[in-house]
Amino acid sequence: MAPVTIKGLRKRFGSFEVVKGIDIDIADGQFVVLVGPSGCGKSTLLRMLAGLENISDGEIRIGSKVVNDLAPKDRDIAMVFQNYALYPHMKVADNMGFSLKLKKMPQSEIGPRVDRAADVLGLRQLLDRYPRQLSGGQRQRVAMGRAIVRAPQVFLFDEPLSNLDAKLRVAMRAEIKALHQKLKTTTVYVTHDQIEAMTMADKIVVMRDGIVEQIGTPLELYDRPANLFVAGFIGSPA
Ligand code: ADP
Ligand code: MG
Repeated sequence: MAPVTIKGLRKRFGSFEVVKGIDIDIADGQFVVLVGPSGCGKSTLLRMLAGLENISDGEIRIGSKVVNDLAPKDRDIAMVFQNYALYPHMKVADNMGFSLKLKKMPQSEIGPRVDRAADVLGLRQLLDRYPRQLSGGQRQRVAMGRAIVRAPQVFLFDEPLSNLDAKLRVAMRAEIKALHQKLKTTTVYVTHDQIEAMTMADKIVVMRDGIVEQIGTPLELYDRPANLFVAGFIGSPA
């Protein structure tokens, strides 16, 4: 676990600026939801946190360490994507243990770690299956398992539920929250779904067009939206 501090963060693609000077303070163990319309820069911001995209300006700290120039593997962050990206030719257990294997962790340590993560996620019975033998929800759980085995300081989620049907989406929200209660890992969760944001967040960051419109608890945003955009966005049905 670690706090995350984002200061004056900017991203330009050529002359096109998509993140325009963003400041966010995330406390140790907090569950922060980044919400905003499609194209406002949420994924770009998350990818900069993960080190998958270099930054044009500003600073990112994890704990007390500035990570601007650190490679993704050196950041102690694990990211869960929308399109699970499981390895189709690997069993669930191997999918979950793969990143540890890359780190040269001995199999005698990987096995127990995978088992513990599988217990947390209710995947024990599925460790010998291949991804094609799993339901959408189970695949999503394996994708989370891959992140959990690494015991990172920070979890990043980029619209992890958007490929699931409505009913499963609601169930998985609760699972992800329960997981956070258990592990208390600092989390940044991206969605364009305001209901998801309102039900899951300790703190919501509302983005529009590369800037932050408002940061607050769900109740604060609901009671005292900073402007019409926030009021309309938070108030409108999903
Ligand atoms: P969101 O996740 O909020 O939907 P993104 O961060 O994916 O938004 O994208 C923000 C803007 O940046 C969009 O206009 C998108 O087209 C643009 N963009 C994203 N990645 C690139 C890239 N590699 N090159 C050029 N433009 C990009
Ligand atoms: Mg996105």
